Amino acid sequence: MQYFDAHSHYTDRRFNRDRHQLFAEMQEEGVAYIVDCAAEGKNRELGLQLARKYDFYYLCTIDDHYYKTDWDYEAKEAEINRLVDETVVKLKKLCAENKKIVAYGECYIDFRRVEKTPEEIRKQSFWFGKDLEVARGVGLPALIHSGNADQEAFDVIKNTNMPDYGYGKGMLHCYLGPPQMALDYIDLGYLISISGLVTHRSARGKNLVEVVKKVPLSHMLIETDCPYLTPEPFRDRRNDSSLLRLTVEAIAQIKRVSEEEVAEITTANAKAFYGIS
Ligand SMILES: [Zn+2]
Repeated sequence: MQYFDAHSHYTDRRFNRDRHQLFAEMQEEGVAYIVDCAAEGKNRELGLQLARKYDFYYLCTIDDHYYKTDWDYEAKEAEINRLVDETVVKLKKLCAENKKIVAYGECYIDFRRVEKTPEEIRKQSFWFGKDLEVARGVGLPALIHSGNADQEAFDVIKNTNMPDYGYGKGMLHCYLGPPQMALDYIDLGYLISISGLVTHRSARGKNLVEVVKKVPLSHMLIETDCPYLTPEPFRDRRNDSSLLRLTVEAIAQIKRVSEEEVAEITTANAKAFYGIS
């Protein structure tokens, strides 16, 4: 069986000790592709190095020079748009030099640590919309991080309307929203990425089981988000892509199909989405 981990964080310092050994082992265990997420700076440098060294390693990155949280964004929109254009030019060049950059993200909207006031919603929606503009400008699929922002993320994506953007405009990383909304995202051309939380007996885990029931395999990706979100029964350990098999197992049981089918279809979906041949 071959697995595709559609979202991970191997530049995290928790992998400094044994990253290379781990990569060798997980490839033996069927992990055929990973798309690792590393933002501009030291992490991206490391990510690009890893992409050169390992065939199975691809990169998702973000460049947030246009993003200034302390700015009066409404007054400065013209200036911000200029920075967005600059970022697009810079990233296009970077992508031309590094063919293994395959996505833009994490495009971020998250209300888990701030109060969800109308002003906060306006502000975060604005910046999230700018992230999507950059993704479209560069021509990369967007990788979406939405935390306690189901409706807000959906509204921005819907209103951004990117009809020229082709198959797989974006993916909802670690989807935790309502099952029905997952189908609405699919209607907009998005894919739903399922994490190891589907193995947990928490409220989030139970909701995710319902999501997996509803979402057709044809529009599903699987991810670890490692080192976070370790599946059961290893919940307290550091996560890595070799544990993706537990997520595959859970999805296969929920959908009453074979693990091979889940692994095969999600791998094909991810390859098409990230443009990997
Ligand atoms: Zn992540």
